[in-house]
Amino acid sequence: MTLSPAGLIISSAMTESKSPIIIEVAVPLPLDTTFHYAVPWSLAPFAATGVRVLVPFGKRKLTGYVIAAVAESGEEVREIIAVLDQEPLFTVGELEFLRWSAGYYLHPLGEVIKSALPAGINITSRSRTRQKPDGAEVAEEVLTGGKRVKTELFYRAAVPLPEGGKLRDKPARIVAFLGANGEAPASLLRREFGADAAILKRLNEKGFLAATEREVYRDPFREEVFLRDTPPVLNYSQAEAFRQLAAAIKGRAFAPFLLHGVTGSGKTEVYLRAIANVLDQGQTALVLVPEIALTPQLVRRFKCRFTCGIAVLHSGLSDGERFDEWRRIRRGEVSVAIGARSAIFAPLERIGVIVVDEEHDASYKQSEGFRYNARDLALVRGKMERACVILGSATPLVTSYHAAQAGKLGTLHLPSRVRNLPMPTVMLLDARRKKNETFLPELAAALGENLAAGGQTLLFLNRRGFATFLICNDCGHVLRCPNCSITLTYHQRRGRHFCHYCDFSIPAPSVCPECESPEIILLGRGTERVEEEVKGLFPEARVSRMDRDTTTGRGGHARVLKGVEEGSIDILVGTQMIAKGHDFPGVTLVGVISADATLNLPDFRSGERTFQLVSQVMGRAGRGDAPGKVLIQTLAPDHYAISRAAAHDFEGFYAEELESRREAGYPPFAYLAAITLSGNAAPVVEKWAEEAAKLLRLVKREQRSRVEVLGPVTAPLGKIRGRFRWQLLLKSAGRTELHRLLAGFRGKFKTPAVVRTNIDVDPVDML
Ligand code: ADP
Ligand code: ZN
Ligand code: ZN
Repeated sequence: MTLSPAGLIISSAMTESKSPIIIEVAVPLPLDTTFHYAVPWSLAPFAATGVRVLVPFGKRKLTGYVIAAVAESGEEVREIIAVLDQEPLFTVGELEFLRWSAGYYLHPLGEVIKSALPAGINITSRSRTRQKPDGAEVAEEVLTGGKRVKTELFYRAAVPLPEGGKLRDKPARIVAFLGANGEAPASLLRREFGADAAILKRLNEKGFLAATEREVYRDPFREEVFLRDTPPVLNYSQAEAFRQLAAAIKGRAFAPFLLHGVTGSGKTEVYLRAIANVLDQGQTALVLVPEIALTPQLVRRFKCRFTCGIAVLHSGLSDGERFDEWRRIRRGEVSVAIGARSAIFAPLERIGVIVVDEEHDASYKQSEGFRYNARDLALVRGKMERACVILGSATPLVTSYHAAQAGKLGTLHLPSRVRNLPMPTVMLLDARRKKNETFLPELAAALGENLAAGGQTLLFLNRRGFATFLICNDCGHVLRCPNCSITLTYHQRRGRHFCHYCDFSIPAPSVCPECESPEIILLGRGTERVEEEVKGLFPEARVSRMDRDTTTGRGGHARVLKGVEEGSIDILVGTQMIAKGHDFPGVTLVGVISADATLNLPDFRSGERTFQLVSQVMGRAGRGDAPGKVLIQTLAPDHYAISRAAAHDFEGFYAEELESRREAGYPPFAYLAAITLSGNAAPVVEKWAEEAAKLLRLVKREQRSRVEVLGPVTAPLGKIRGRFRWQLLLKSAGRTELHRLLAGFRGKFKTPAVVRTNIDVDPVDML
């Protein structure tokens, strides 16, 4: 056995007499089958379940995952090339969870495993042609990718120091420091002494310093200091919720709960107590939060509370940082892992509790590639680990609340805010017939008053950019994306019109591109326009904006939030990014510029989404000592999603929403699956959508299935990124029957490569 520089374990045996071990390998390709490979005896001790192996695959080389040892293989099998890991990347228990996920979401196991592991670690081969010195071209396979372990040189003072060598100034101080303190990494010496690599190298060569290369972690929170906090005394409802959780944790059986607590009711404090309890028992905690809510503020609350290792996983990290955080979890160096959706696959062992904060949030659903829902998988993993699962929200999903009422989830209720703080007062402003005004007089007045009183304001609008579309007053031409079936949004600062789906853009025209009339008008408004108008209205106010355009780049997000926290921002304009989870005690006014954008989407969840969004943004007001006020401008003041949110009436909203779901046969009264076909040629996609429907109905008859097959229809977003889209919707009273039909269909349905078929089990995005 030899260990190559890249960490590959390669076979060194020439001839091997005994018959080889056979392993089952999953490869990260869209294939439903797994493959058998032979392992040479010299590699046999290393090719355990959970390690990656480099295997020949057709003409290529690929990284695969060992998922089992098999006794015998009926087929002729090829040999693996190398073992890529010295320790398994996943345990047998984790594999069981990944298998379950692959089965439930009908996605190939190899791809599921790949998306559960940190990105960028796999080795694959690429073919390229190389010129030989004699000019001849040869084709060869080159290996790319691989591990990303970061190393750093650590220095210590040599013992004894070399005779006769005399050092002065900086070098003398460095050697003295290391003599007194032992070993230190090069980065620390650079920070403390301004020692660059050349100085250290010279001192090493002269024999003053000894160097060792060591593996280091990239820590995204390295610079910060965390002061221990003092936990508050729980109020009655918190204590009662905690009592039930503590009992469940003690029982060490699967125990799922819905923690329904109004905004500002201290849900996070309940999570922290439950986690402390779990840690005391030597178990670990997995905490899922929506990507947007995964702010430094939240992480700080955890770091200030717990002395154990905490890992943070989110998309703001570099691949390297993610890989390091992942390895800290794998090695058992942390007891708490906090992350966005994909953290549900974190390699945490001995899990005692899984928290899903803001369980209603749509970002738990991955809607591309491997289409899983981390909120749902939390219950599955919790069951496998016999853990306590806490689904927390002020606005639980209708389906969650229904499950809680049916006794499938334990119910924990926090009906009021902490410290007896009142809920904000809410006023609905009817914006009908006043569509051209960004601020109705009441909102403008409230803004002025709040500013004068020194309070902070959040202004919410769920649309970024300046204007929603450009229309020609003469010929009626509207600027549309050539690749997608939507209009282009005008972004003033960049002077261009953008597609929010595919990022296509054109410079802002000065005349109509169709008839050359100069009479072009910009309609609708986005956050950019609101920011400009509020600045015009209150030139003395310190105004900031937070949406996907302003928060690109590392820490952009955090800077704005810090500004609100520290009081250096008076008015923050933003999209749903400002609605979620933040705890800003200085915010006394929340203005909803328009609450209707989500209401009119052709999606059965549009009412629920609107209710959640409005309730969440309202919940940012009055979390400090001063009471909060909310003003909501809307074109639909009588819609139950808006009026119930304004009345802080979850129960009332739930009752109405449940009734409409019952009538239309949507969850919780049915399980859904969506099948989407897409391709570049509209008629071809349509034809195959018809074929899919025919096959589904045929399989349905064969299976005597009662699953309802609806469609095919063109998708509400009929074209995205140049691909035309058709949809079928399956509705079923039971999960098993739905899966049987999908499996039967999937096994038989074959389209030409130009048509792509996606199956989405429990779809969240219906567009
Ligand atoms: P939620 O997650 O329900 O919106 P948080 O957990 O963020 O609410 O709590 C809001 C604020 O109240 C936080 O600053 C938190 O530290 C504080 N808090 C929580 N529980 C208590 C309590 N029992 N007494 C006093 N303050 C509390
Ligand atoms: Zn025109
Ligand atoms: Zn587009």
